Amino acid sequence: MDEGIEMLDLSMDLGERQMVVHPTVVYDSDGYVLVDTGMPGFAQKIKDLIEQSGIPASEPRAIILTHQDIDHIGSLPQFLAESRSPIDVYIHENDKPYLDGEKPFIKLRSERKRAILQSLPEKQRSAFEHAFSASTPSVVSHPLKDEERLPFAGGLTVIHTPGHTPGHISLYHEPSQTLIAGDALVVQDGQLLGPNPANTRIWKQRFGRCINSRISRLKPLFVIMAAPLIIMQTSA
Ligand SMILES: [Zn+2]
Repeated sequence: MDEGIEMLDLSMDLGERQMVVHPTVVYDSDGYVLVDTGMPGFAQKIKDLIEQSGIPASEPRAIILTHQDIDHIGSLPQFLAESRSPIDVYIHENDKPYLDGEKPFIKLRSERKRAILQSLPEKQRSAFEHAFSASTPSVVSHPLKDEERLPFAGGLTVIHTPGHTPGHISLYHEPSQTLIAGDALVVQDGQLLGPNPANTRIWKQRFGRCINSRISRLKPLFVIMAAPLIIMQTSA
């Protein structure tokens, strides 16, 4: 199978509301790598979407997380618990302590976490608690650094884009000239902007100019954003 990239349209029914996010898959003849995993409880739906997109059904060989937020890491424990073989997990080194239970998740208040966990079947709830507990080994096999190049699907370059979280990364897929922006960018009135200020808090000042200059240097042809603002073709 030739290398390629596929954006998934993951619509999640969360009881009180619907949420759409865009996990992304890059693939080559060695298998596929999943970028982000949606909310807890959606691993099977993600696998179904991957299969529907024509990528042969199997387990991901690796999972890369753009950052620590619950709508990106949520189904990671389920993927790990259900896989027959170990899955390598990548996240930026600055967001790793939150996954390891050394620090509380930045935006997940304990009441919301409790409500989310209560809504899950017992097996998934214990997988979640086990994965992110300080008393179990880290789920992260590979803490990432800025400008690291990962040998997946013809090459993925890590771009540290702190602001939304301290360890937020974007990924640049060289063969397709696609930037997987995670939550680092939003589109407003047809313009690419930095992260939503409401979700950015104290990292805002450090962020602004850095991402704009780096992205304009890359000149991506496509930008995939995690939020429901779909793929955008740039005027490269
Ligand atoms: Zn986020």
